Amino acid sequence: MSLHDHHCVNALNATARERILIMDGAMGTMIQGLGLGEDDYTGHGTGTPCTHATDLPQKGNNDLLTLTQPQAIEQIHYDFAIAGADIVETNTFSSTAIAQADYGLEAAVHDLNVEAARVARRALDRATAQDGKPRYVAGAVGPTNRTASLSPDVSDPGYRAVTFDGLRLAYRDQIRGLIIGGADLILIETIFDTLNAKAAIFAAIEAFQAQGIRLPIMISGTITDASGRTLSGQTPTAFWHSVAHARPFSVGLNCALGAGAMRPHMAELAGVVDTLTCAYPNAGLPNAFGQYDEGPEETAAQLAGFAQEGLLNVVGGCCGTTPEHIRAIAEAVAPFAPRQLEKEQAA
Ligand SMILES: [Zn+2]
Repeated sequence: MSLHDHHCVNALNATARERILIMDGAMGTMIQGLGLGEDDYTGHGTGTPCTHATDLPQKGNNDLLTLTQPQAIEQIHYDFAIAGADIVETNTFSSTAIAQADYGLEAAVHDLNVEAARVARRALDRATAQDGKPRYVAGAVGPTNRTASLSPDVSDPGYRAVTFDGLRLAYRDQIRGLIIGGADLILIETIFDTLNAKAAIFAAIEAFQAQGIRLPIMISGTITDASGRTLSGQTPTAFWHSVAHARPFSVGLNCALGAGAMRPHMAELAGVVDTLTCAYPNAGLPNAFGQYDEGPEETAAQLAGFAQEGLLNVVGGCCGTTPEHIRAIAEAVAPFAPRQLEKEQAA
């Protein structure tokens, strides 16, 4: 079957040439603010009761809220969209059989992904009906809680808790659900182990072939180490060389230590990648209680610095960032032109 490109590709590329695209902020932070309990997570208190059988507690299974509290998730997407996000991430960071195994909900994965894309689409359509601005659903594909190229056991460095094919199959089910639900892009994010990301890229290509459609892929790594490397030991340039074959719509960095620590690594990436760049840092460093204190103006001012240096094509926020952060970021980067690709400069 020959693949056709998703209809959003031309519009996205055209907008990306004109201005910096805005992503949303942290779904997890907004969910935390709701103060939900076990009954809310399962939908057996308020909401839509979960129809998938499991004996394990669900509090903390944020992705399940797509099924059990869909109005709340839709409202969060809508708030980010109205704040200025062009691209909104589905609530599917942990919606793989591997990550859902912690909650006994491997069987819910298809529903979680299909519904998450639909809920996001509904929220964005509501926002677009209000202001006429086109918006895009990015199907969020998280790293899972296992690493394919490292051992979790220091006394047994050859051991692996997951294989490439185990990841590939889990990601394929997830991405298939996201496509069926209507996602416009696939966002492989918070990559700490590049081998996991490569399994997700492979799975995305398999899912595209099965569905007969190719979605733009966004790829985002995370630098967790003060030496400027991913957990699996790569510098930003090495990371790019490992994923460039996917011909991604964008490559960038997210999460981790906040915008200040991310800046030199984004500068390195922006200097080597031949596609769009994307940055969505946390709201600074977490405090002793794991909360983020960096206010919207502070995050926005730092990201405006990125934009002024010409490092950015897509920008948003990760952990700790709220709709107020996204509104401030969108306003702060608006005066600056998007980063120019080398091939455009040459033309
Ligand atoms: Zn984060």
